[in-house]
This record gives sequence, C-alpha cells and structure tokens, in this order.
Amino acid sequence: MTTRKLLLLPGDGIGPEAMTEVEKLVALLNAERGAGFEIERGLVGGSAYDAHGEAISDSDMARAMAADAVLFGAVGGPKWDSVPYEKRPEAGLLRLRKDMALFANLRPAICYPALAEASSLKRELVDGLDILIVRELTGGVYFGEPKEIVDLGNGQKRGIDTQVYDTYEIERIAKVAFELARTRRGKVTSMEKRNVMKSGVLWNQVVTETHAKGFTDVTLDHMLADAGGMQLVRAPKQFDVIVTDNLFGDMLSDIAAMLTGSLGMLPSASLGSPDEASGQRRAMYEPVHGSAPDIAGRGIANPIAMIASFAMMLRYSFALVEEADKLEAAIAEVLESGTRTGDIMAPGCREVGTTEMGDAVAAAFRRKLAA
Ligand code: NAD
Repeated sequence: MTTRKLLLLPGDGIGPEAMTEVEKLVALLNAERGAGFEIERGLVGGSAYDAHGEAISDSDMARAMAADAVLFGAVGGPKWDSVPYEKRPEAGLLRLRKDMALFANLRPAICYPALAEASSLKRELVDGLDILIVRELTGGVYFGEPKEIVDLGNGQKRGIDTQVYDTYEIERIAKVAFELARTRRGKVTSMEKRNVMKSGVLWNQVVTETHAKGFTDVTLDHMLADAGGMQLVRAPKQFDVIVTDNLFGDMLSDIAAMLTGSLGMLPSASLGSPDEASGQRRAMYEPVHGSAPDIAGRGIANPIAMIASFAMMLRYSFALVEEADKLEAAIAEVLESGTRTGDIMAPGCREVGTTEMGDAVAAAFRRKLAA
C-alpha cells in the first residue's frame, strides 16, 4: 500500500483549531480510500519558541524536509511581539520556505457563487471569479542583502532592504505560471515596476524571453504592479494567472483575497523544483490568513481555508484529483446550504463554529466519496 508522509505544523492562534478539521478528512481518506496517510506533528512559530527557544527546531525542520508534503497553520500573536527578531514566529515560516526551496506560491482566488454577496465588490464583478496568483517566494526584497538598520552617527538611522532577482529565479517562476495557465484559460499577466526598478526591467525581459522560448501558445500581458492592483478591484475577471515577485505578490494576493469575501476562505500552495529522481516536488500548503489572535480559542474560526489548502495538497502533491474535486465540491455544497462561520455570515444563513463547519464538510465529502 502507498504510504504518504504528511507533516502537520499547526502553529499558533487559530492554526491548531482549523488543522483539527483536516485531521478528520485525513482519517476519512485513510478509512474509505486506503489513502495511506501517515501523520507526524511538529511545532512552528510562537509555540515552537515557547518549547525550544526557536521558531522551528532543527528536528522539525528535518521532518519537513523528509515529508511528502507539509500542512502549515499560522504563526504569530501579541504574546511574541518582543522576542528577538531572528526568533520571531515568522522566522519559522521563512526558514521552511527557504530550506525547502519553495519558490512558487500559488494563491487561487475563487469566488463561490454562494458567497458573492460577501465580497466588497458588486456581485457581477466577482460571481464566478477564478484567478490564480503565482508569487515568487524565496527571492526579492524579503531576502536580499544587505538587510539592516545602520546608525549614521548623527542622530539618524538608515533602514535598508535590498530587492534583488537573478535570471534563473525569474525564469523558473515564469515557467510555473505558463504551465499552470495551460491547464486553465491560457493567459498570464506579469506584474512588476519596470518604470522605477531595475529588478522590474530584468523581470520583464526574462518573462518575455521565457514565453518566446517555449510558451507562445499562452497569451502573455505585462502590467505595472500598481496598475495591476487597480485593475484587480476594477475588473478582476479579466485575469487568469498573474505572476509577480515576492513583495508585490504578497500585497496583490491580499487584495484578491477580499474579492472572495473573507481571508478565512483562501488556500495556498508553495512548491519547489521537482526532485530529479522521483519527480516529486517539495511542497507546503497553508491558508493565506494569519493566526487571528482576536478570535483564537473561541471555536469560531473558519476552517475552510485550511481544508481547501488540503484539497490543493491532494491535487498537486498526491495527484488525488478526484478526491480534490470532491472535497472542493463538498465545500461549495455546504456553503450553498447556508451553513456559515461568522466571517462569512449572511442574512438567512445558519451560523456555526469551527467544529460544526468541519463536520459539515466532512459529512458532505464522505457522501461524495461514496457516490
Ligand atoms: P489575520 O489573517 O490573522 O487576521 C485578519 C482578520 O481576519 C482578523 O480579524 C481575523 O479574525 C480574521 N480572520 C483571519 N482568518 C480567519 C478565519 N479563518 N476565520 C475567521 N476570521 C479570520 O491577520 P493579522 O491580524 O494581520 O495578523 C495576526 C497575526 O498573524 C500576526 O501575528 C501576524 O504576524 C500573523 N500572520 C501570520 C501569517 C502566517 O502565519 N502565514 C500570515 C499573516 C499574518
């Protein structure tokens, strides 16, 4: 029987609450489909700092490297605001991304028809929206050196971050975007700031060359990232796949998030290069939202972003396409039935907590697996 090694890193705040709902689905797949998932659990973020004095221990990092896929919850919270910078909760997430070389972050923004009213935009602008933001994740200004605060000695300090991209980093993320576009509507929009940034000039050139070399069947557009932000809220359905750098991708995907109604709905995947021997990509899946300290521990968090992240894992890491489709259909069915957590509540719907939402999705998923 196939064995699939899965590392769960629930993290802080609502991370563990939402992750519990995925464990029910893993158990279901093992029981009903003999899926062979073997679960390990580790610590990351503030919970790891409390236990080991680090945002992720070396042993948990080694388990992440050895796993077939990692499911990550969320990290951070006011409790750890004053820990040393290099040990802050986010350092665990950044180390996972860096050491696993997860350079491609996939963030779908799908507007379920049942939730179109929850968007801050008009229904006709978002109903049926299905876009994918492909964000470069291991380069750019979050990692570039020098990165420091320098004392200028005259009562002034200087904060420095460095935006830097090499050709190969741009080429490999562009390839991921073009390949994904082929499985969708065949259109890529590349966003940068070539009007004011040298890294933007290079980004534009390399994406254009990569397209010309092997992807001319895909339509390529270029847009300045600020104009792209504007277009995302003016007419989001014009986009299919958006490819952009680490910083712009961070912001643009949060804008896309609000188009779909709630952060509690948004999954993501982070992929590395395929392993030469097995062809398997290192991969980590995580909801876009943070640890939501304002609602943590109250049993009201929406677990759908986490569950949908697990669905992406079934699709991209384990090629369990039918199961992924059925899980996504189960989420849509539960929303259609009017079952809602507080963040996506609407008049006439029934408000439930995290556990009840997870149970409703699991029940719908079980019915679909059996059909
Ligand atoms: P957040 O995503 O945690 O919360 C923003 C708002 O959305 C809050 O009002 C929250 O209650 C709500 N929300 C988020 N997820 C929800 C869900 N599943 N169900 C219902 N409501 C939900 O962002 P923030 O408040 O800016 O950050 C809180 C902490 O999380 C900070 O410490 C931040 O650094 C950290 N953070 C972590 C990650 C991550 O681990 N990937 C991402 C973003 C923020």
